Amino acid sequence: MTVNEDFIRDKALKLLENLFGSDIPLPVDLRIVSKAVNAYVYCAEMPVDVSGFVYPPDGDVDKFLIGVNSAKSRTHQHFTVAHEIWHIINEGYGRMITLSSVINAVANTSYNLRRFERQANIFASELLMPSFLIKYFVEKGLINLPDLCKSFGVSAHVMEIRLFKELGYSKNYFYS
Ligand SMILES: [Zn+2]
Repeated sequence: MTVNEDFIRDKALKLLENLFGSDIPLPVDLRIVSKAVNAYVYCAEMPVDVSGFVYPPDGDVDKFLIGVNSAKSRTHQHFTVAHEIWHIINEGYGRMITLSSVINAVANTSYNLRRFERQANIFASELLMPSFLIKYFVEKGLINLPDLCKSFGVSAHVMEIRLFKELGYSKNYFYS
């Protein structure tokens, strides 16, 4: 099966719909999403270039541990958990032991791993900032960037990528 961007985004939206219906809590409650994929999340000290990882403890492929770097910001950790959830639900890769860094995995890994990391970031972006909810906020004129970041539980950097690169909004609209 080809895993293209639309497929990944659709997976994220369907997961939200299944778990929350039309009443999605913001920021998205990742405790509920993690539970739904049988993952337990914990914070731990990690090397600075590692955001987090996911693995099946004791080789049990139906239960997962998601570790997040305790030194990172809450928004960074939130994104990392969403990122790791993709590795769990993306069959074929989620069943492998993975050690990944959201930010730095790109630099020195194989083409396949880079591709999987990019997929996980696309998924996390849609899961935490669903396109239809962003649209709803923007149409209501709720376009103050710090407020948007707070509502969706993401960093300014991640929100800017979402708004300007992925959803194609004009920067002028938000910074005027
Ligand atoms: Zn990853």
